Amino acid sequence: MTKYIFVAGGVTSSLGKGIISASLAKLLQERRYKVTIQKLDPYINVDPGTLNPYEHGECYVTEDGAETDLDLGHYERFLNTPTSQNNNVTTGRIYQTVINKEREGAYLGKTVQVIPHITDEIKRRIQLLAEKEDFDIVITEIGGTVGDIESLPYLEALRQMRRDLGPENCLCILLTLVPYLSAAKELKTKPTQHAVKQLLQAGIQADILVCRTEHQLTKELKQKLALFCNVDYKSVIEAIDADTIYDVPLLMLRQKLDVRVLKKLKMKTSTTPELIAWKEFLWKLKNPAEEVKIGLIGKYNELPDAYKSIYEAFVHSGAYNECNVKVVSIHSQVIEAGEVEEHLKDLHGVLVAPGFGERGVEGKIEAINFVREAGIPFFGICLGMQCAVVEFARNVARLKGAASTEVKSRTQSPVIDLMNDQKKVKKMGGTMRLGSYKCKLEKGTIAQKAYGRQEVSERHRHRYEFNNKFKKDLKKAGLVLSGTNPDTKLVEIVELADHPFFVGVQFHPELRSTPEKPHPLFVAFVKAAMKYKADNEKA
Ligand code: GLN
Repeated sequence: MTKYIFVAGGVTSSLGKGIISASLAKLLQERRYKVTIQKLDPYINVDPGTLNPYEHGECYVTEDGAETDLDLGHYERFLNTPTSQNNNVTTGRIYQTVINKEREGAYLGKTVQVIPHITDEIKRRIQLLAEKEDFDIVITEIGGTVGDIESLPYLEALRQMRRDLGPENCLCILLTLVPYLSAAKELKTKPTQHAVKQLLQAGIQADILVCRTEHQLTKELKQKLALFCNVDYKSVIEAIDADTIYDVPLLMLRQKLDVRVLKKLKMKTSTTPELIAWKEFLWKLKNPAEEVKIGLIGKYNELPDAYKSIYEAFVHSGAYNECNVKVVSIHSQVIEAGEVEEHLKDLHGVLVAPGFGERGVEGKIEAINFVREAGIPFFGICLGMQCAVVEFARNVARLKGAASTEVKSRTQSPVIDLMNDQKKVKKMGGTMRLGSYKCKLEKGTIAQKAYGRQEVSERHRHRYEFNNKFKKDLKKAGLVLSGTNPDTKLVEIVELADHPFFVGVQFHPELRSTPEKPHPLFVAFVKAAMKYKADNEKA
């Protein structure tokens, strides 16, 4: 029988429920349990695909093409197992299902209400994961903070599940904050006491408290929390601020969070998590032999979460190369304002980020022009690849008016354009080219050598494509088309032969990078940056 663990948050948001859930799952997975993690998001959008990145950061795309919350990225990075649409459910999706059923007449004339209809649908979505695959444990992270109006139906669903399954099959962890008042030089427990009470009002007694703190919790403080919050002493777990999110599984192991969970769920604790590959990654991460500076050119730079998976992919590929990758965030609009050389000349590599719309595109193209001519390693992702094609078409192939029709709808040389199936699209939600597609690699190219394979599968999220009408002209001018979709013949990777490293990919490699399996293209890019630095220092 599948066991359920819920992770709710108290006191404030942004305490890292995703990281705690992923760390716990990692420890359970190392103990040979089959685990998955799900995120319930209390907002009314059906999925985060239509959200501006400034709202909730990056939209993470799963293999099956679901546009999801960025926490699913953490789940995959920690567990090395793919997630799917079922791992992320929003209030919008729940209501959409219930309302569609009501329109079909499925409720047989009954009044459709939050309880039981919405809560039933929430419970169905939680249990669906274990119906599709036989998981030992499903961890469900409830977005938001206890006390929020929007989270109430989720807490009610959790209360019902605990009543039906019993506490030994359905556990509630509250992640909470124990703030430090520097004037009083004291850690305070009151906000946590209130969060626990708020959860009690919804009919749920927290089983385990995970306490985010900047300072160690003393024995007395833990005893106080245990007494006032009605949990046993060993179930007060300290989660002290860590240097990197990848330390958290080890911190939780030391605090025995996994043991507490398994004991309460009446599950075996015989195998101990070894985390050999994880520890090796951490050692390399913390002991780099070198450092490179890589520019990240985007337009959502004010919010680093907008490029979450790219930052993480640099952490993984940097550690693999035993090199600290210092990512320098550069706004493409700053480049548009002039002084491209000033901003880029001291970098050892430049990554041009994904994005949508016209804003900042010319700055990206200018940056690519500079690094192409200066021989600085370049990696373009999605819009970054499209900009590289436009730059090459304008300045090397000399195609008049070369542009993407996303930016300029009427142009003589639409080198990036909408395919016919996208031209028909009217609704915006969930209609891009999404999810995994195959890509065949050309022998001897940078991409093929990096992957060490002939065919790969990578995740997509875009509407526009390389326009094959210009394939011949661009190839003739020297653009190498190193990766193509074997079924549709769409161009997926472009590169240059007479450049140290110039690669643009239509897909999102960052989504598949994990500490234990860094993405080969990021590994190759960081290597190229290291070589560029070494060569230039010599000169
Ligand atoms: N805006 C471009 C498109 O839709 C690129 C998308 C992206 O970078 N994810 O094709």
